Amino acid sequence: MKTNWDLSVFYNGFDDPAYARDMQALPERIEALRALIAGENPDAAAKTRQIVDAIESLTLLMERLAMMMMLTQSTDAEHPQANAAQTPMNRAFMAVSQCESAFSRYLASLEDLDAVIAADEELTRRAFVLREYAENARHNLPEAIESPVLKMQLSGGKALSQLRGKLEATLTANFRGEEIPLSAVRGKAYDPDPAVRKDAYEAEIACYKKIEIPMSVCLNSIKAEGETMAELKGYNGILDMTLASSRLTAQTLEAMWTAIREALPELRAYFRAKGRLLGHANGLPFYDLFAPIGESTKTYTIEEARDMLVDVFTRFSPEMGEMMATAFDEGWIDVYPKEGKRGGAFCSGNYEMNISRIMTNYSGSLSDVSTLAHELGHAFNNKQLNRVPVMMTDTPMPLAETASTFNETVLSDFVRAAATPEEELTLLDASLTENTQVMVDIYSRFLFEQKVVAAQADHAMSVAELKETMLWAQEQSYGDGLDPEVRHPYMWACKSHYYSTGRHFYNFPYAFGGLFGRGLYARYKAEGASFVPVYCDLLSRFGSDTIENVTASVGIDVTTPAFWREAVGTVVEEARRFVELADAK
Ligand SMILES: [Zn+2]
Repeated sequence: MKTNWDLSVFYNGFDDPAYARDMQALPERIEALRALIAGENPDAAAKTRQIVDAIESLTLLMERLAMMMMLTQSTDAEHPQANAAQTPMNRAFMAVSQCESAFSRYLASLEDLDAVIAADEELTRRAFVLREYAENARHNLPEAIESPVLKMQLSGGKALSQLRGKLEATLTANFRGEEIPLSAVRGKAYDPDPAVRKDAYEAEIACYKKIEIPMSVCLNSIKAEGETMAELKGYNGILDMTLASSRLTAQTLEAMWTAIREALPELRAYFRAKGRLLGHANGLPFYDLFAPIGESTKTYTIEEARDMLVDVFTRFSPEMGEMMATAFDEGWIDVYPKEGKRGGAFCSGNYEMNISRIMTNYSGSLSDVSTLAHELGHAFNNKQLNRVPVMMTDTPMPLAETASTFNETVLSDFVRAAATPEEELTLLDASLTENTQVMVDIYSRFLFEQKVVAAQADHAMSVAELKETMLWAQEQSYGDGLDPEVRHPYMWACKSHYYSTGRHFYNFPYAFGGLFGRGLYARYKAEGASFVPVYCDLLSRFGSDTIENVTASVGIDVTTPAFWREAVGTVVEEARRFVELADAK
C-alpha cells in the first residue's frame, strides 16, 4: 500500500521535458481552437466536429497540467514551480471559456442545428451539450460589453469576495483572554468540554462585531452585482440563473423543500433530545449543535481502514471494491497530514487515464474512514463517467455529492449494524449532526439568501437587518429545536458560500446531493443487487442531460415530493431512534 499519492503518472516532476512541452503548447492550441471557430467552413457538421475534437483534446491536456499543478500545491503550498504555473493556467482557462462563448454563438447561428448534429455520429453522442451551448448563447453577456463587464467584475464583486476572505483569515477571537484565529475558535464547537464550547461560541459571536460593517457591504454588493449580471444575461434573477446552470427546475427544488419542511418537526425533536442529554430544557443552544455525544475512542490504522472499506464495498459492488483496492495499492491517495499540506479532503479525477487522486488528512477516527469512503465515492463516479465523451462529464452542482453521500451511508449503515446501544447513540448523533446541517441549516441559508437578494431591488441591508433576517431564517428551519435565546445572528458573516460571485445560492446543492444520495441508498435497500447496474448507469450520465431527465431515465421522479420523502424518511428514522435511545438513558 502507498500512503503518498503518485503524480508521476502525469509528469515525472516539473523538470520533465514533457511538462515544459505541454505548457508551451497550451497557448498555441488555444489559438488554433479560436481560429477554427472563427474560420469559414460551409460544411457546418464538419466544422462542428473539428471544434468538438479540438475542445476535447484541449480539455484533456489542461486537465493533466492543472492536476499536476493543483495536486502539488495542495500538499506543498510553497512549491515554486507549481505556484509559477498558476498564472498561465488561469489565463488558459479564461481564454478557453471565451472560445466556448464563441462556439456557443456559432452553434446558435446555425439554421438547423438538429440536422448538423444528426449528420455525425460523434456529434449525436454529444447532442445534449451541443444544444445547451446553443441555448447558452441567448444568455451570454452581449458581445460588445462582455469584456468590460468581466473586467469591472474583477474590481467589483470578485474583489469584494477576496476582501471577505481576508477579513475572515485575519479575524481573531478573544477566547479566555487569548486572541486566537476564527477557525480555531470555531473548531472548539466539537470539544467534549461543555464550558469550552460555550466560551468559544461567545468569543466567536463577539469577534464578528469587528468586521460586521465591511462584511455587510461585501454581501449586499455581491448579491446586487449578481442581480445585475442575471438581468444582463436575460435571466429572471439570481435564482433563475443558478437553476439554469444547475440544469434543474424550480419545481424540482420546491419538491425537495416540501419534503424537508414536512420532516422539520421530527428533526427538531432530535435537537431537543440532544439538548436534554446535555442538560438543556429549552432546546439545543447553538453552541451545542456539534457537541459530541458519548465517546468514540475507536481508531483504525490505514490498513484496517483499507480492509474494512474494500470488504464493505465489495459486497455492494465488486467493481467498487476492486477500484478501492487499486486506489490504496497504486498511490491514488495522499493519506496523512504533513507540513505545508492543506486541510480537509477532496477527490480529483483524470478522464484520459481513468484514474482519480484523493487527498485526506487521516488521523484514524471513524469519521476519517468515512471521509475516505466519501472521496472514494467521487472516484467511483469519475470511473463511471468515463463511459461517455469527456464533453458530457460536466456534472451539475446538485448531483456532485451523490456518490460520496451514497458511500457514507453504506459505511455508516454497516458500522451501526454491529454497534452496542451506547455506540449506536454516538453513531446516530454523528450522522444526524451532518444530515441536519444538510437539511435544516441549509434550508435556513436558502431562506436567508432569498431575503437578501430580494432586498437589493430596494436597499442594501444594514447589519441589524442582516442579523435579524438570519435569526428569522433560523426560526423558520430550526424552530423549537434550538434554544431561542442562543442562536447565531452572524452565520451570514461566517459562511463563505454567500460571497461567491460565480455560485449564488451555493446552499441548496448540498441538500439536493445529500438527500439524493440517501434516496438512492433507500432504493438499493429495497431492490438489492439489481439496483447496482442501474446506479452505475445513472452515475455515468450525470453530465448528459438535465437533472430531471437523467433521473427519470432510471425511473426516479425528482419533480414531485414522493422520492424526496423516501430520502428524508431515512433521516427521520434515525432521528426517531435517537430520541428513543436518548429517552431510555
Ligand atoms: Zn464531496
